[in-house]
Amino acid sequence: MIRIQLAGCSGGIGGRERQTTSYLLNDTVLIDAGTGLGTLSLEAMASIDHVVLTHAHLDHIACLPLLVDSVAAMRNAPLQVWALPDVIAILRAHIFNNQIWPDFTVIPDAVNPFMQLNPLPATGITLAGLQFTALPALHGIPACGYRVTKGNTTLAFSGDTSDCNAFWQAVLEDSALTAVIVECSYPSTMATMADLSMHMHAGALAQRLSALASNVTSVVIHRKPGFEEAIATELTAALSDRDVRLPHPGEVYQFG
Ligand SMILES: [Zn+2]
Ligand SMILES: [Zn+2]
Repeated sequence: MIRIQLAGCSGGIGGRERQTTSYLLNDTVLIDAGTGLGTLSLEAMASIDHVVLTHAHLDHIACLPLLVDSVAAMRNAPLQVWALPDVIAILRAHIFNNQIWPDFTVIPDAVNPFMQLNPLPATGITLAGLQFTALPALHGIPACGYRVTKGNTTLAFSGDTSDCNAFWQAVLEDSALTAVIVECSYPSTMATMADLSMHMHAGALAQRLSALASNVTSVVIHRKPGFEEAIATELTAALSDRDVRLPHPGEVYQFG
């Protein structure tokens, strides 16, 4: 069983109803650390042992520096952060550089720090019983999606990406797939903007989702502010025979 609390699943901010990407899996593992993370209670934040990042764009890491600082006194083990090696290098150089934010990998000391930054092994890793392997993404900077498996339940997370053949090929070949959690930032009327910013639009996504097995649930996230309804209308019309969810921040899904 995998329980997902979609603390943030929007493509931007604006009111309480919009929080950026942050998903709590089975209470102790977080995928991305956008502004949705800040809606969790202090106790819930302190229970997070692992943060797995798709990429280093601010809407996916904005609350990571604040998380470490907020819960440090409540934890007796370092917070473990996992990402592609290139993403870890970006975090070290540009965030935890003692200018934007302290280098919490050596505070209070390097042996027992508040946080450790770990390059994700190429073979993947198991965290709290959840098996993570990276999936391809195309976003103009180092980025990936994730395949997450526990028991008979397998979820595929796209991360931020343009229409990535290699991601969809991996998803299509995965006969164990339970659900795909996929970004859709724009309606198809904004296809040019979607291409420029290397995001999905609803027209391309509808084509991809209609090719999946009909029992696979789709969870559509990362809708940009102001385009939520247009995306929902387009996808609902194109995929009327499918289980397509259009969540708002705070919703909880359980798979398996
Ligand atoms: Zn991004
Ligand atoms: Zn994003």
